[in-house]
This record gives sequence, structure tokens and C-alpha cells, in this order.
Amino acid sequence: MPRPSGTRRWIRPILPAILLLLGTYCGTGASARSQPEFDGEEALALAKIQTDFGPRVPGSEAHRQAIDWMEAYLQPLAAVVQRQSFQIWNPHYQESADGVNLIASFYPEKTQRIMLCAHFDCRPEASAEYPPVLEPIDGAVDGAAGTAIMLHMAELLSAHEPAYGVDIVLFDGEDIGLSGAAPEYEHWFQGSRHFASFAKQSGYQPWFAILVDLVGDVQADYHQEPISLQYAPDVVKKVWDLAAELGITQFKQSRGSTVVDDHWILNRDAGIPAIDITESISDYPYWHTREDTWDKLSAESLEAVGRVLVAVLYP
Ligand SMILES: [Zn+2]
Repeated sequence: MPRPSGTRRWIRPILPAILLLLGTYCGTGASARSQPEFDGEEALALAKIQTDFGPRVPGSEAHRQAIDWMEAYLQPLAAVVQRQSFQIWNPHYQESADGVNLIASFYPEKTQRIMLCAHFDCRPEASAEYPPVLEPIDGAVDGAAGTAIMLHMAELLSAHEPAYGVDIVLFDGEDIGLSGAAPEYEHWFQGSRHFASFAKQSGYQPWFAILVDLVGDVQADYHQEPISLQYAPDVVKKVWDLAAELGITQFKQSRGSTVVDDHWILNRDAGIPAIDITESISDYPYWHTREDTWDKLSAESLEAVGRVLVAVLYP
């Protein structure tokens, strides 16, 4: 539709005055609530710092260093950062280790809250190699990438007020179970199980949760994951519709294969509607191998996920 003739002449001079007035009535929050830009290069650098620590297997020095670094990184950005400590049982080494979920809360005064989460721990066994090798993996796509996206989101959240309150939760002990532990997946998802029982006891009930895991490799495609569709179809639709509006082609409007992950625990044990942005395991050949290394990550691919999350938080 063409612009009606005649309006252009008078609207130009008064537009700044209208914006100024709106700014006055909306208060300073109006400018702070601008939509930030997610920088894939920044996320890539944050993933590199994690893999440089070495495999973040619970009980290792790299694991302790990564937790301290993440906590120090989040502290000046979030309103509150909590360290949720618990014991992780490692069935590979037959020993327990100190586990930590990190919870960073932004704008705690906002009652409508969205939870964003990722696991940061690394698998102690390259269980998808043939034959499996009891050696820890770097977890670049499986761990560091999702965590890096969360850490960069924390930066954006601190500088730009979102429409909702946000809690970023970094889970420990996701990837430590033995292969073939289904149907209960004993020893898997130890951090999210601990968090879910805390959420249930404390009455923590965000609007919904978005888990980001197995993301950021060059070829990544994100199909709609079946457990997410089962428990939180509206959230899947919201997220994938936003991706389509942004023209982000990595988000595919089709059903993917099931990925049993921390979002299953949040849905089942805490009643938190949770979805997983993840690629199908069969599409990432380095999954649970010693080849899941930093060079598999792409800034553009990380940015695709980050831009969708920004669109969710800043409608
Ligand atoms: Zn994994």
C-alpha cells in the first residue's frame, strides 16, 4: 500500500517530538528494553574458554576451574547468582564428585519468568566410538556451545531489560550415565534432577523453560523434538514461529528424533513446560566421541540459536 500523499510533509518534523513524549511517559525502561543483538563470535569465544579448560568431567580440575570461571562471569551481570551444590555419582569411575548447578537470576522483581538452561559438564567416556573408550570428551557441541549461548545471553540481559524475568540455569552431571541405562536413565541428568526437586519443594514455576544442548556445529539443523512436542507444544510453536519470522533456516518446521535430555526431567519431575533446542544425535557424527572439539563449532550456527532466544525474551 502506498503511503497516503500529504502525510509525509507534516509527520517528519513532529516525529521526534512524538518519540520524545513517548519516551517521557514510558520512563527510562523504554530505551533499556531495546532488542539486543546476539553476537555469534562472542559465543564462540566463550565456548573456546570452556574447552581450553579441558574436559569438564565432575571431580576434575577442569570442572572446578570452569565452575569458578562461569560463576565469576555471571556475578556482575545477574541480580543473584546461586551455587546449588550436590553429590554426583560417576558410574564409570565408581566414585562420587562435587556437583554444582549455577542459577543466575535477572530482574527478580518480574513475576512472569522464563528459564533458559544448558548443561556444562562433559562425558567421562567416549561411548559412541567403536569400541567405546573410557576417556573424557571435550564436549564442544555437547556442553560448551549451549553454555556459551547462555553466558552471552547473560551479558545481553544485564544491558537490555527483557519483557520477562529470566533465570539462567547451568546444569552439572547431565552426561555421566552409562550407555544403555534406559528406561529410567539412572545416573543421567543428575543436575536437572536435583534442580527439579528443588523447584518442586520451593514452588519455582517459570512460564516455560528452553534447554539448549547439542547446538552450534556448522551443519546443525534444529527439528522439533518429540518430548518437547509432547509436553510443551505451544512453546515449540512459539519458538519455531519466531525463527521462521526471522528467516532462520536452521530451525526446521518438522518433527525430529527423540532426544532424552534435561528438559524431560523438568517436565516430568517439576511440571515445568520445557523444550529442547537440539540437533538429532544421528546428525552430529562426533557426538560422544573425542572428536567433539572446538573446531566443530561455528559462530553463525551459534548466532542462529541466540537470535531466536533474543526474539523470545524481547518480543
Ligand atoms: Zn551428551
